[in-house]
Amino acid sequence: MELNERQKKIIEITKENGPITGEQIAEKLNLTRATLRPDLAILTMSGFLDARPRVGYFYTGKTQSQLLTDKVKRMTVKSYQSIPVVVEESASAYDAICTMFLEDVGTLFVVNKDGVLIGALSRKDLLRASLGNQDLSAIPISVIMSRMPNITFCHSHDLIIDVAKLLIERQIDGMPVVKETDKGLEVTGRLTKTNVTRAFVELAEGQFD
Ligand code: ADP
Repeated sequence: MELNERQKKIIEITKENGPITGEQIAEKLNLTRATLRPDLAILTMSGFLDARPRVGYFYTGKTQSQLLTDKVKRMTVKSYQSIPVVVEESASAYDAICTMFLEDVGTLFVVNKDGVLIGALSRKDLLRASLGNQDLSAIPISVIMSRMPNITFCHSHDLIIDVAKLLIERQIDGMPVVKETDKGLEVTGRLTKTNVTRAFVELAEGQFD
């Protein structure tokens, strides 16, 4: 985040004199309290300053990179996840290919009749199955998918940064967001490299606070 000259001055004044009221900062800058209000709001929202009622503003001592780390630690799966695309284990490889095109996704999550997560199916799984001119409508996805307990999943309250690390470590494009139920894991969302990329862009453009 780029601070303007006045905001930098406010930080200096608060560093030296804090806690200090908005009125006193305005006086030191020969400005009115009203003129300063937007700058003070930006500085408190972004974490450079903290404000206590009836005490005033003080400098938090956090550097730009500490503030960025704080932000990253508040980015959770819940805010960035997509709608999951699931298929039943009885579907054929041919059905799965159609679903991938229709839903425009690269990974399908496979569920049993109770809607419980049992597997994941990627584009390469389907390419592998299609080698050798096989009849794709005769191949059930249950024989070509990756299966539980080897499926990597996450929860909506997990941090984006932890999920991103898992995507790299396990060399996968995405994972299901799940909720524990009596029957097993229910798929409630999908978190892919695209979602992580979106989070990264928002962070860089200062849209996340
Ligand atoms: P692709 O192979 O199309 O590039 P991935 O890299 O995501 O897509 O998949 C690599 C392998 O990992 C595939 O065999 C796939 O079944 C499996 N896979 C995909 N997602 C997961 C997941 N969340 N957990 C475990 N395995 C997965």
